Amino acid sequence: MNSLKPIAINISIPLFISLAFGSLVFYEAKVPKIIFSLVPYLFYAISALILWVSWHFNRNRFIFIVIPLLLIHIGFGYLNPKRATDLFLYSSMLYPLHLLIFLSLKERGLFSIWGILKIAFFVVEVAVVLYFVIYPNADFIAVLKMKLLALSFYPLEDLCMAIAIFVVFVMSILVMFNKYILYNSSFLVIAITFYTGLYFIKTPHANELSLLTIGVIIFILLIRESYRLAFYDELTALPGRRALVEDMAKLGMKYSLAMIDIDHFKKFNDTYGHDTGDEVLKMVASKLADVGGGGKAYRYGGEEFVLLFPSRELDESYTHTDILRDTIAKSPFKVRNKQSSKTIYINISSGIVQKSSKDKDPFAVMKRADDALYKAKKAGRNQVVKA
Ligand code: GH3
Ligand code: MG
Ligand code: MG
Repeated sequence: MNSLKPIAINISIPLFISLAFGSLVFYEAKVPKIIFSLVPYLFYAISALILWVSWHFNRNRFIFIVIPLLLIHIGFGYLNPKRATDLFLYSSMLYPLHLLIFLSLKERGLFSIWGILKIAFFVVEVAVVLYFVIYPNADFIAVLKMKLLALSFYPLEDLCMAIAIFVVFVMSILVMFNKYILYNSSFLVIAITFYTGLYFIKTPHANELSLLTIGVIIFILLIRESYRLAFYDELTALPGRRALVEDMAKLGMKYSLAMIDIDHFKKFNDTYGHDTGDEVLKMVASKLADVGGGGKAYRYGGEEFVLLFPSRELDESYTHTDILRDTIAKSPFKVRNKQSSKTIYINISSGIVQKSSKDKDPFAVMKRADDALYKAKKAGRNQVVKA
């Protein structure tokens, strides 16, 4: 299960956007008219921006998420009332499922086999909806409108509510247990926003605003995703070297820094293979992430990590680093490969320093920590040495 803090942060950002836009509808009388007249243009503008960014950064999922919204918006605006009502019926059931499908599918190049299959699937979806909008079938519509629940959420049909419960349930489970919290939480809020916009379809501007809200949520998601790509390490999910340099520049005069290196890692890689090596890196990183004493862990590169202790004395930081060294040394690691299954133990060495006035810049601090690390290696490894 994911920890509560990242879940709360990742849910609250899109939820805040959704509530902020939603409140415009409820305070409609106080909001200048011009704002509402801009909504459709803003929706088209942000959709164009999302399409452009998704295309350039190979985040094709969003192309498939935004184009149906554009089609729905155009359909509601230009179809005659009977057809628009049918489009409402179909999209209220199909779009949230479509969201779930495209959330689960892996990101691939648009013109790879998988990408082309996705395009084909999407074209079929649009064609089927279009067909039933132009040639409505009374029996099919009766099935979609069948009574299932005691309560009515008109204009949302019972089947739509059943799908909504399913989609919201699956997405909530993903938010709690799947590692891509950033995506899952945004998609959960997008689904809820979509339903809310349809439920209040008769309220002026509500639907248009819900579409714009979804656009803004996706755009913020893309920005946060690029930030994560730039500052976080993919394998261990720890912040990387760039984040470390930025954080050190922000720190004051008083902080401690521990440089950490896994012992005999090359031999380990050679014996058990690179993939197992990667698993070890993840295990070590997860232990380092739990460092006490207000410390923060970074992946410096390869099998080297840094712990940064803002406003901490050397001795205090030493204690926390040595506790980690000891915890890691005592943590069994199960190697599972084709030939055997075996339990081994990993050791780390560390050099730790406190920033002094003689250090010209963060790199001077790191250099001294690195020298102390070298001493720890020379002294037999599996130890923390103070500079
Ligand atoms: P020492 O105790 O002196 O640190 O010995 P070592 O073998 O750990 O030292 P060295 O720096 O020579 O080896 C580091 C090895 O880490 C080399 C490389 O194969 C491995 N390595 C670096 N990055 C990764 C990675 O992302 N995944 C895996 N599996 N191995 C990595
Ligand atoms: Mg090394
Ligand atoms: Mg090493």
